[in-house]
Amino acid sequence: MPSEAASDRRGIVIGTAGHVDHGKTALVRALTGVETDRWLEERKRGLTIDLGFARLDLDPDLETGIVDVPGHEDFLKNMLAGATGIDVLLLVVAADEGPMPQTHEHLAIARLLNIRRGVVALTKSDRVDSDWLDLAHETTRELLDEDARASWEIVPVSALTGDGIEPLRDALRRSTAGIPARGVDDRFRLPVDRSFSIRGTGTVVTGTVWSGSIGVGDTVSVFPGGNSARVRALQVHEDPRPRVTAGRRCAVALVGVAPASVERGSVLFDPSEWTPSERLGVRVRALGGRDRPLQHGQRLRVYLGTREVMARLQTADRRPVAPGAAAWAVIALEAPLLARTRDRAILRFYSPVTTIGGIRVAELNPPPGWPVRTEAWGQILDGGPEEAIAAAVALRGLRGLPAAASPILLGRRDSTLGAAAEEAGCVRIGGRWFAADAVAEAMEAVEESVARLHAADRRAPGVSKEAVRSAVAPVCDLELAETAVRRLLADRRLVESGPRLALPGHAPRLTPREEEGRAQLARTIEAAGLQPPLVVELGRTLRLDRAVLDDLLRLLQESGVTQAVTPELHVAATALETMEAQVRDLLADGAPAPPARFKETFGLSRKYLIPLLEYLDRAGVTRRTTEGRVLVQPT
Ligand code: GDP
Ligand code: MG
Repeated sequence: MPSEAASDRRGIVIGTAGHVDHGKTALVRALTGVETDRWLEERKRGLTIDLGFARLDLDPDLETGIVDVPGHEDFLKNMLAGATGIDVLLLVVAADEGPMPQTHEHLAIARLLNIRRGVVALTKSDRVDSDWLDLAHETTRELLDEDARASWEIVPVSALTGDGIEPLRDALRRSTAGIPARGVDDRFRLPVDRSFSIRGTGTVVTGTVWSGSIGVGDTVSVFPGGNSARVRALQVHEDPRPRVTAGRRCAVALVGVAPASVERGSVLFDPSEWTPSERLGVRVRALGGRDRPLQHGQRLRVYLGTREVMARLQTADRRPVAPGAAAWAVIALEAPLLARTRDRAILRFYSPVTTIGGIRVAELNPPPGWPVRTEAWGQILDGGPEEAIAAAVALRGLRGLPAAASPILLGRRDSTLGAAAEEAGCVRIGGRWFAADAVAEAMEAVEESVARLHAADRRAPGVSKEAVRSAVAPVCDLELAETAVRRLLADRRLVESGPRLALPGHAPRLTPREEEGRAQLARTIEAAGLQPPLVVELGRTLRLDRAVLDDLLRLLQESGVTQAVTPELHVAATALETMEAQVRDLLADGAPAPPARFKETFGLSRKYLIPLLEYLDRAGVTRRTTEGRVLVQPT
């Protein structure tokens, strides 16, 4: 079969379900010719323990795989690993026995996983007369909910005689009509259901590609652990493929990982923007027909993909969730899961292990105080893409929604979200999406922090940009803050004062004593020419506290009276100007001057001369050469 053409076909996975011994494995054998009970123990006991897989040719346009699950309640965990990612349920009910406990449980699980398509096979029809068959048909029909009753066909079959197998195949084909193609242009994820090692090939894992695609030569990440591995080869039901897209059973040969580190429950994913979750914000649905509600704080098992983890349920206001009811909740996981928003998972009781409900993920790692977020969760789960992204950016406020991770955070494709974000009027700044009014809000936040910083530091002529940045950082994305500052400056709601920002009209406020100190400082420094007292000396003689002194010196410098030659040496601006003019004269002939020449001219000690000369170098007036200083721009 030509591989490229094969991968153009739609991938569909059918999964069996039903009580143990009702004939699932026999039916898969009759449909496909494949014996899916692979293990010696399974054949000896005549009992499916683990998952079985076979190709089922239904339609030339489809590539259909079938997953055979164990019916025995002891192996329900394996059943869950198989039920994940299936498109069509093949519910098997033995006509001679009718619905039994796992018939109910599997059907409930399928409903919780939102598997909406199905066909019922009434097996062992050879064992019953037509009255029994009618009865089995009727009791099975009653199991189905309204939607399923309308669309699921119920087909009597016998794996023994082959009666009904062709009609069943036709019914399965009809059930696949109109299944939307899964997102191929999407982030790749494959929950691993088996891993083993084949001599000469190395580690091989199998699973259903949930989304996106995987190609030979790709590097994939492995959850948990975060190791990466290279894809050496791919197969779909033994057929080698260069690339496998969503909705297909797939075997992946990996280079760089041992089978033990990619066991069932692991996930292969594209190394982009996925983050493991420790908490899931969810809509939880408690299974009907039980007598006990789900309790706040209850310990339970979560089954997502092929992974099982223990967790605790947290409901809003510690309210219980009555059987059949739904509620918003947080699932606090005891081990992380690689979840995506809109994922569905099954909840089972801790002990005894019974299915108690299902969840749909609305937010990954929600913060404490999550109950206020549940309205947005509703929009994320039930709304269209526009509504969903609008709700998600609103939840994130001034921190923004990281665009690259949004397909995972919202459970929708990149292409869908890009368009939806624009439709919803979101603003993209840096790598994040923000609500339309986020810039205005950030501008207010910046203004407020500048005002607060002014109040906290009344002698300061303004606040440094760093100070503003760290003041808003806890609530605001930095690139958004920068944008807000630029807009505030453009709108004259902020002004630049040297390297600092200030509100318009802001002036430092000094006490009379500080005012006097400033005047004394200016007088003292101006009177001393090029040899003013160092800052420590000024503090001592003028009896000014160092913090006050520094602020006053900064004010003098910013008003152009003085200049800090070094942090310890502040010189009158006029004296520096004069010195600069004299230096220009001195060097006008182009001959380099060693420090000794300057010493002669200015009669300064090294303590003053060297910092002053270095200051002129930094100011771009002079330049040091091996023979001495020259003018940077000769006159
Ligand atoms: P599973 O546990 O649902 O996978 O059931 P199996 O496929 O292992 O079948 C259980 C038993 O029922 C086996 O002994 C089968 O041979 C028998 N069986 C399955 N299908 C039919 C059928 O259509 N007619 C009859 N007479 N026996 C069947
Ligand atoms: Mg079986």
